[in-house]
Amino acid sequence: MKIAFIGLGNMGGPMALNLLKAGHTLSAFDLSADACRKLGAEGLPIAKSAAESVADAEVVISMLPASAHVEGLFLGGGGKPGLLDSIRAGTLVIDSSTIAAATSRKVAEAAQAKGIAMIDAPVSGGTGGAIAGTLTFMVGGETRDLERARPVLEKMGANIFHAGAAGAGQTAKICNNMLLGILMIGTSEALALGVANGLDPKVLSEIMRRSSGGNWALEKYNPMPGVMETSPASKNYAGGFGTDLMLKDLGLAQENAAAVRAATPLGGLARSLYAAHSLAGHGALDFSSVLKLVQKPS
Ligand code: NAD
Repeated sequence: MKIAFIGLGNMGGPMALNLLKAGHTLSAFDLSADACRKLGAEGLPIAKSAAESVADAEVVISMLPASAHVEGLFLGGGGKPGLLDSIRAGTLVIDSSTIAAATSRKVAEAAQAKGIAMIDAPVSGGTGGAIAGTLTFMVGGETRDLERARPVLEKMGANIFHAGAAGAGQTAKICNNMLLGILMIGTSEALALGVANGLDPKVLSEIMRRSSGGNWALEKYNPMPGVMETSPASKNYAGGFGTDLMLKDLGLAQENAAAVRAATPLGGLARSLYAAHSLAGHGALDFSSVLKLVQKPS
């Protein structure tokens, strides 16, 4: 299949490489020349522009930071045309960015008006899942469009869920990430408490992992440096899932909670804690660096 892939960051880069490995014909683009150079060096064909990448694509995939980027790319603005003007009717667009459900619905409706099918398919599983091709996709949109997307999604992920109509994938994603944001702070607090009492963080992590406090952070993404070789904590919190991206997702969850009058007190507190962490200059570090907020200075 001819696939255009737009957004080659921490997630999009390895996802596009997995599609290439699976034998698809890729044409990729990112606004960052560095990202294009890095992925180009790994064999990914790079287009000169987003419009060039979609020219004869059967499937277009986007993996961008936030709502404004997705809306700007597909719908345009400030005198610039949107990419929907360059995508042929009949093409399938898969947006895997985590954005507001309302923006997903708005862009999907604009696509539909041009005869272009679009689903929201945000992911979970982190950069490790993107590299290994084991992501979880949460899809919002028509069943027939999900079935068209399935063979492509299967090359990047291990679990594919149909959450409901357009935007429903995004709603599922912010529920999941609100829980993840809370869990990472709780896990950090527990580890910092143990270490302040002289416990070895590796031993404490293993005890909690196999006890009732066990969770995804302890299994796959330990926030304490040196406990887990593969986690961003052991790489000075570089790469991974940025604090500012987590902050964005917790903001989306709070906006949504206000709209439907849901009570999300821990989600609100978690948003404030990540905001303070970002203000302290850690916005670009992986979100597990939130440990720094509760860790005793050494
Ligand atoms: P990232 O910041 O590493 O990458 C985003 C890329 O998009 C950047 O390279 C940027 O240059 C590019 N970009 C922005 N606007 C563009 C445009 N108009 N055209 C072309 N390229 C453009 O972000 P990421 O970590 O890869 O995350 C991407 C999305 O996936 C976010 O919505 C994030 O919330 C979500 N997500 C991330 C993770 C993770 O662990 N990093 C996990 C699940 C979901």
